[in-house]
Amino acid sequence: MGIQALNISKRFGSFVALDDVSIDVRSGQLTALLGPSGGGKSTLLRVIAGLDQADSGTVRIEDQDATSLPPQRRDVGFVFQHYAAFKHLSVYRNVAFGLEVRKRPKAETRRRVQELLELVHLDQFADRLPAQLSGGQRQRMALARALAAEPKVLLLDEPFGALDAKVRKELRDWLRRLHDEVHVTTIFVTHDQEEALEVADELVVINHGRVEQVGSPNDLYDRPANEFVMEFLGPVT
Ligand code: ADP
Ligand code: MG
Repeated sequence: MGIQALNISKRFGSFVALDDVSIDVRSGQLTALLGPSGGGKSTLLRVIAGLDQADSGTVRIEDQDATSLPPQRRDVGFVFQHYAAFKHLSVYRNVAFGLEVRKRPKAETRRRVQELLELVHLDQFADRLPAQLSGGQRQRMALARALAAEPKVLLLDEPFGALDAKVRKELRDWLRRLHDEVHVTTIFVTHDQEEALEVADELVVINHGRVEQVGSPNDLYDRPANEFVMEFLGPVT
Protein backbone atom coordinates (compact mmCIF):
# COMPACT_ATOMS: atom_id res chain seq x y z
CA MET A 1 0.00 0.00 0.00
CA GLY A 2 1.03 3.65 -0.18
CA ILE A 3 3.35 4.78 -2.95
CA GLN A 4 6.41 2.98 -4.26
CA ALA A 5 8.69 4.42 -6.91
CA LEU A 6 11.26 1.74 -7.72
CA ASN A 7 14.57 2.23 -9.53
CA ILE A 8 13.42 5.36 -11.33
CA SER A 9 15.84 6.86 -13.84
CA LYS A 10 15.11 9.89 -15.97
CA ARG A 11 17.31 11.75 -18.45
CA PHE A 12 16.74 15.01 -20.25
CA GLY A 13 19.00 14.58 -23.28
CA SER A 14 22.32 13.49 -21.80
CA PHE A 15 21.57 15.08 -18.41
CA VAL A 16 20.67 12.53 -15.72
CA ALA A 17 17.91 14.10 -13.59
CA LEU A 18 17.08 10.92 -11.63
CA ASP A 19 19.60 8.14 -11.20
CA ASP A 20 18.04 4.88 -9.96
CA VAL A 21 15.87 6.50 -7.29
CA SER A 22 13.63 4.39 -5.06
CA ILE A 23 11.21 5.66 -2.43
CA ASP A 24 8.57 3.90 -0.36
CA VAL A 25 5.80 5.94 1.25
CA ARG A 26 3.51 4.01 3.57
CA SER A 27 -0.25 4.51 3.41
CA GLY A 28 -1.41 7.53 5.36
CA GLN A 29 2.10 8.88 5.80
CA LEU A 30 3.24 12.43 5.12
CA THR A 31 6.65 12.29 3.46
CA ALA A 32 8.79 15.28 2.48
CA LEU A 33 11.13 15.20 -0.52
CA LEU A 34 13.82 17.59 0.63
CA GLY A 35 16.89 18.85 -1.16
CA PRO A 36 18.54 21.75 -2.95
CA SER A 37 17.17 23.28 -6.12
CA GLY A 38 17.85 21.21 -9.25
CA GLY A 39 18.18 17.95 -7.30
CA GLY A 40 15.32 16.17 -9.07
CA LYS A 41 12.44 16.55 -6.58
CA SER A 42 9.89 17.95 -9.03
CA THR A 43 10.89 15.45 -11.69
CA LEU A 44 10.30 12.56 -9.28
CA LEU A 45 6.92 13.98 -8.28
CA ARG A 46 5.94 14.40 -11.93
CA VAL A 47 6.91 10.79 -12.65
CA ILE A 48 4.77 9.63 -9.72
CA ALA A 49 1.86 11.79 -10.93
CA GLY A 50 2.26 10.46 -14.48
CA LEU A 51 3.01 13.90 -15.94
CA ASP A 52 6.47 12.67 -16.98
CA GLN A 53 7.46 9.16 -18.04
CA ALA A 54 10.60 7.70 -16.50
CA ASP A 55 13.14 6.02 -18.78
CA SER A 56 13.15 3.05 -16.45
CA GLY A 57 11.63 1.95 -13.17
CA THR A 58 8.12 1.34 -11.87
CA VAL A 59 5.52 3.31 -9.93
CA ARG A 60 3.01 1.59 -7.67
CA ILE A 61 0.13 3.50 -6.10
CA GLU A 62 -1.97 1.73 -3.49
CA ASP A 63 -1.01 -1.74 -4.73
CA GLN A 64 -1.66 -0.95 -8.36
CA ASP A 65 1.06 -0.82 -11.02
CA ALA A 66 0.61 2.77 -12.21
CA THR A 67 3.75 2.95 -14.37
CA SER A 68 1.89 3.23 -17.67
CA LEU A 69 -1.36 4.81 -16.46
CA PRO A 70 -2.25 8.36 -17.51
CA PRO A 71 -2.39 10.91 -14.66
CA GLN A 72 -6.19 10.95 -14.47
CA ARG A 73 -6.26 7.20 -13.79
CA ARG A 74 -3.67 7.25 -10.99
CA ASP A 75 -6.00 8.41 -8.24
CA VAL A 76 -3.69 11.28 -7.29
CA GLY A 77 -4.45 14.90 -6.49
CA PHE A 78 -1.70 17.42 -7.04
CA VAL A 79 -0.78 21.00 -6.30
CA PHE A 80 2.14 22.52 -8.16
CA GLN A 81 4.38 25.41 -7.37
CA HIS A 82 2.81 28.04 -9.57
CA TYR A 83 -0.74 27.07 -9.21
CA ALA A 84 -3.07 28.25 -11.95
CA ALA A 85 -6.65 28.69 -10.73
CA PHE A 86 -9.46 29.30 -13.16
CA LYS A 87 -9.51 33.09 -12.85
CA HIS A 88 -13.02 33.57 -14.17
CA LEU A 89 -14.58 30.90 -11.91
CA SER A 90 -15.65 31.35 -8.29
CA VAL A 91 -13.87 29.54 -5.47
CA TYR A 92 -16.84 27.16 -5.35
CA ARG A 93 -16.60 26.34 -9.08
CA ASN A 94 -12.83 25.95 -8.92
CA VAL A 95 -13.20 23.29 -6.24
CA ALA A 96 -16.22 21.68 -7.94
CA PHE A 97 -14.45 21.45 -11.30
CA GLY A 98 -12.82 18.06 -10.72
CA LEU A 99 -16.17 16.57 -9.69
CA GLU A 100 -18.06 18.14 -12.58
CA VAL A 101 -15.68 16.73 -15.18
CA ARG A 102 -16.18 13.32 -13.58
CA LYS A 103 -19.93 13.80 -13.99
CA ARG A 104 -20.68 13.22 -10.31
CA PRO A 105 -24.34 13.83 -9.34
CA LYS A 106 -25.05 17.52 -8.60
CA ALA A 107 -26.22 16.98 -5.02
CA GLU A 108 -23.13 14.94 -4.20
CA THR A 109 -20.91 17.61 -5.73
CA ARG A 110 -22.59 20.34 -3.69
CA ARG A 111 -22.20 18.41 -0.45
CA ARG A 112 -18.58 17.49 -1.14
CA VAL A 113 -17.56 21.04 -2.12
CA GLN A 114 -19.23 22.45 0.99
CA GLU A 115 -17.36 19.93 3.16
CA LEU A 116 -14.05 20.77 1.51
CA LEU A 117 -14.52 24.52 1.81
CA GLU A 118 -15.20 24.05 5.53
CA LEU A 119 -12.13 21.84 5.86
CA VAL A 120 -9.87 24.53 4.37
CA HIS A 121 -11.77 27.32 6.16
CA LEU A 122 -12.99 28.98 2.99
CA ASP A 123 -16.73 28.38 3.32
CA GLN A 124 -17.27 32.13 3.75
CA PHE A 125 -15.48 32.78 0.45
CA ALA A 126 -17.28 30.39 -1.91
CA ASP A 127 -18.58 33.16 -4.20
CA ARG A 128 -15.33 35.09 -4.52
CA LEU A 129 -13.03 35.00 -7.49
CA PRO A 130 -9.47 33.73 -6.89
CA ALA A 131 -8.15 37.28 -7.38
CA GLN A 132 -10.17 38.34 -4.33
CA LEU A 133 -8.33 35.88 -2.06
CA SER A 134 -5.02 36.29 -0.25
CA GLY A 135 -2.07 34.13 -1.34
CA GLY A 136 -2.57 31.74 1.58
CA GLN A 137 -6.29 31.44 0.86
CA ARG A 138 -5.55 30.65 -2.79
CA GLN A 139 -3.18 27.86 -1.76
CA ARG A 140 -5.88 26.44 0.51
CA MET A 141 -8.30 26.58 -2.42
CA ALA A 142 -5.74 24.65 -4.50
CA LEU A 143 -5.57 21.98 -1.81
CA ALA A 144 -9.37 21.72 -1.63
CA ARG A 145 -9.41 21.33 -5.40
CA ALA A 146 -6.78 18.60 -5.27
CA LEU A 147 -8.78 16.75 -2.61
CA ALA A 148 -12.14 17.07 -4.43
CA ALA A 149 -12.10 13.72 -6.21
CA GLU A 150 -11.03 11.96 -2.98
CA PRO A 151 -7.63 10.86 -4.27
CA LYS A 152 -5.78 8.17 -2.38
CA VAL A 153 -2.62 10.18 -2.81
CA LEU A 154 -1.80 13.88 -2.58
CA LEU A 155 1.31 15.29 -4.29
CA LEU A 156 2.38 18.81 -3.35
CA ASP A 157 5.26 20.55 -5.09
CA GLU A 158 6.43 23.49 -2.96
CA PRO A 159 2.81 24.53 -2.49
CA PHE A 160 3.71 27.39 -0.16
CA GLY A 161 6.77 28.51 -2.10
CA ALA A 162 5.67 31.97 -3.17
CA LEU A 163 4.31 33.09 0.19
CA ASP A 164 5.84 35.14 2.98
CA ALA A 165 7.26 33.46 6.08
CA LYS A 166 4.30 34.09 8.37
CA VAL A 167 1.72 32.67 5.94
CA ARG A 168 3.99 29.70 5.18
CA LYS A 169 4.13 28.88 8.86
CA GLU A 170 0.35 29.11 9.19
CA LEU A 171 -0.22 26.87 6.17
CA ARG A 172 2.40 24.40 7.34
CA ASP A 173 0.61 23.96 10.68
CA TRP A 174 -2.67 23.78 8.89
CA LEU A 175 -1.43 21.09 6.45
CA ARG A 176 -0.22 18.98 9.35
CA ARG A 177 -3.63 19.23 11.06
CA LEU A 178 -5.43 18.52 7.80
CA HIS A 179 -3.27 15.45 7.24
CA ASP A 180 -3.98 14.20 10.75
CA GLU A 181 -7.69 14.57 9.97
CA VAL A 182 -7.94 13.00 6.52
CA HIS A 183 -4.89 10.65 6.47
CA VAL A 184 -4.31 10.91 2.73
CA THR A 185 -0.93 9.49 1.73
CA THR A 186 1.01 12.66 0.94
CA ILE A 187 4.33 13.55 -0.69
CA PHE A 188 5.40 17.09 -0.11
CA VAL A 189 8.31 18.67 -2.00
CA THR A 190 10.32 21.43 -0.37
CA HIS A 191 13.83 22.87 -0.34
CA ASP A 192 13.16 24.30 3.14
CA GLN A 193 14.67 22.11 5.87
CA GLU A 194 12.61 23.68 8.64
CA GLU A 195 9.38 23.18 6.75
CA ALA A 196 10.18 19.51 6.09
CA LEU A 197 11.22 18.83 9.67
CA GLU A 198 8.09 20.39 11.10
CA VAL A 199 5.55 18.89 8.75
CA ALA A 200 6.74 15.43 7.70
CA ASP A 201 6.69 12.00 9.33
CA GLU A 202 9.56 10.94 7.11
CA LEU A 203 12.12 12.78 4.99
CA VAL A 204 13.74 11.68 1.75
CA VAL A 205 16.81 13.81 1.05
CA ILE A 206 17.48 14.11 -2.70
CA ASN A 207 20.52 15.67 -4.34
CA HIS A 208 21.89 15.39 -7.90
CA GLY A 209 19.19 12.90 -8.81
CA ARG A 210 20.03 10.48 -6.03
CA VAL A 211 18.58 9.65 -2.63
CA GLU A 212 21.10 10.66 0.03
CA GLN A 213 19.11 9.46 3.05
CA VAL A 214 15.65 8.39 4.21
CA GLY A 215 14.48 8.68 7.80
CA SER A 216 12.47 10.48 10.43
CA PRO A 217 13.51 14.03 11.34
CA ASN A 218 15.22 12.63 14.45
CA ASP A 219 17.07 9.93 12.50
CA LEU A 220 18.48 12.51 10.13
CA TYR A 221 19.72 14.79 12.88
CA ASP A 222 21.04 11.99 15.08
CA ARG A 223 22.61 9.92 12.31
CA PRO A 224 23.17 11.92 9.11
CA ALA A 225 24.31 9.45 6.44
CA ASN A 226 27.02 11.70 5.05
CA GLU A 227 28.49 15.20 5.01
CA PHE A 228 26.04 16.42 2.45
CA VAL A 229 23.06 15.63 4.69
CA MET A 230 24.80 17.05 7.74
CA GLU A 231 25.59 20.32 6.00
CA PHE A 232 22.28 20.60 4.24
CA LEU A 233 20.28 20.19 7.46
CA GLY A 234 22.48 22.70 9.22
CA PRO A 235 22.53 23.27 12.97
CA VAL A 236 19.42 22.41 14.98
CA THR A 237 17.57 25.65 15.70
P1 ADP B 1 14.08 20.30 -8.14
O1 ADP B 1 12.59 20.20 -8.18
O2 ADP B 1 14.71 19.43 -7.11
O3 ADP B 1 14.56 21.72 -8.03
P2 ADP B 1 13.90 19.38 -10.89
O4 ADP B 1 13.34 18.02 -10.78
O5 ADP B 1 12.96 20.45 -11.29
O6 ADP B 1 14.66 19.76 -9.54
O7 ADP B 1 15.07 19.39 -11.93
C1 ADP B 1 16.16 18.51 -11.85
C2 ADP B 1 17.12 18.80 -12.98
O8 ADP B 1 16.54 18.40 -14.23
C3 ADP B 1 17.46 20.27 -13.12
O9 ADP B 1 18.83 20.39 -13.46
C4 ADP B 1 16.60 20.74 -14.26
O10 ADP B 1 17.19 21.79 -14.96
C5 ADP B 1 16.46 19.48 -15.12
N1 ADP B 1 15.18 19.44 -15.83
C6 ADP B 1 13.97 19.33 -15.24
N2 ADP B 1 12.99 19.30 -16.17
C7 ADP B 1 13.61 19.39 -17.37
C8 ADP B 1 13.15 19.41 -18.73
N3 ADP B 1 11.85 19.31 -19.02
N4 ADP B 1 14.10 19.52 -19.70
C9 ADP B 1 15.40 19.60 -19.41
N5 ADP B 1 15.90 19.59 -18.16
C10 ADP B 1 15.02 19.49 -17.15
MG1 MG C 1 11.16 21.68 -8.02
